[in-house]
Amino acid sequence: MKQSVVAVILAAGRGLRMGGELPKQYLELEGRPILAHTLAAFDKASSIDALVIVSNDIEHVKERVLMPYPVSKPVFFVQGGEERQHSVWNAVQFIKECDIIVIHDGVRPLIAPEVIEKSVKAARLHGASAVGMPCKDTIKETDHRGFAVRTPDRSRLWEIHTPQTFKFSLFKSAHEQAARDGFLGTDDSSLVERLGHPVKLIEGGYYNIKITTREDLELAARLLRNRGEEN
Ligand code: C5P
Repeated sequence: MKQSVVAVILAAGRGLRMGGELPKQYLELEGRPILAHTLAAFDKASSIDALVIVSNDIEHVKERVLMPYPVSKPVFFVQGGEERQHSVWNAVQFIKECDIIVIHDGVRPLIAPEVIEKSVKAARLHGASAVGMPCKDTIKETDHRGFAVRTPDRSRLWEIHTPQTFKFSLFKSAHEQAARDGFLGTDDSSLVERLGHPVKLIEGGYYNIKITTREDLELAARLLRNRGEEN
């Protein structure tokens, strides 16, 4: 693509854990689809030049999300893959070339434009960045029977969210290597870490939740209302 900083918004999950037929990225949050909130944040972040939406229902995105809630930046569509990592790879192949790629879960609608800017800046400086927060809870590793086997030092643990942002050439190499090794990661930066490349972690706020359950949706609505009252 000719654009320099491209955001990939992932919205190809089936996400039916909440029940119902509609994947969670299309559920209503304070009167508009979750995905519309996410796209609006990326539209506001001035470092982002274009948006690539990964979806298996492009007509739905066009008619129910972009028509009622348009964005000002160029938008492109890519079909999703079987797993999240395959959806990301489809976007990488579509983009072919750019400076910086920003990967974000469509179901994290509370992302602040300032955090997107911070992640792009860090990726320009360090090659790779991931947004998250230090762990507040103690994390335990378990065996297969549900017994604790290890308690890692909490002061060095983070929970990792998105956006995860990379120099495009580095990210493409990381995906190619993962495909050769048959590695499937649970996030994007783990692919880059495997190459031995450092990933800068950035605090993005505990509110940047991934909407997975009905409770998450209610919490997100409350957080959005509070934000509205603060402004
Ligand atoms: O399933 P999970 O909650 O980890 O999904 C995170 C994000 O990745 C969601 O926005 C979902 O739509 C997206 N996804 C995707 N393609 C898949 C699986 C998930 O774009 N095959």
